[in-house]
Amino acid sequence: MSILFGSSDVDRFWSKVDIKDSNECWNWIAGIGTNGYGQFSVKFKKIGAHQFSYLLHNNIYEIPDKLCVCHRCDNRICVNPKHLWLGTYKDNSEDCEQKNRTTKGSKHGNSKLTEDDVVEIRKMYKNKQIGIKDIADIFGVSRTIIQRAATGDTWKHVDSPICEKRNKAVGLDLAVEIRRLYNTGEYKQKELCDIYGLLSSEMSEIINNKIWRE
Ligand SMILES: [Zn+2]
Repeated sequence: MSILFGSSDVDRFWSKVDIKDSNECWNWIAGIGTNGYGQFSVKFKKIGAHQFSYLLHNNIYEIPDKLCVCHRCDNRICVNPKHLWLGTYKDNSEDCEQKNRTTKGSKHGNSKLTEDDVVEIRKMYKNKQIGIKDIADIFGVSRTIIQRAATGDTWKHVDSPICEKRNKAVGLDLAVEIRRLYNTGEYKQKELCDIYGLLSSEMSEIINNKIWRE
């Protein structure tokens, strides 16, 4: 239950969603704006349905400045929190995914990060909702480069708080869950890396019971 939004708003929101299994798209079944996103209004303000879903799920009141809620599934009317992640606006386009694709290979074509990028990367890395792969895609560099910049292995001189390496945050419960998912045979190792924002080396240690053993 959200402490930020009233239960009537929250109930009204979910009544307009076709809720399916946790990994499927949850489509918005009410009004859709000309931009193709589901529309919701709360406290007399219009907001994208996917944005409201993100706020609810993360218990935050506003989308942080300069960030936008993007879809992993490329389905604009989907409001499944699992399919939503925060991305950056790199230009004036309203479409994160589109921008995300064009950013790859253009501005960041040669994998050159700037100090501003590193500040942004560290902010995103802290937010565990965003997979390392997603961050890597936005900046057009490898996951290792992201991880090293975020944890202060590189870019030590950049004045922004460095992050703890993510694998410390895995924990036994999540490791057990990851192994269970892997053993169903429905997920490839790489997909699990993407879902949980882990490096493949860490993932194989988890799957092979080398770390976080029961
Ligand atoms: Zn979806």
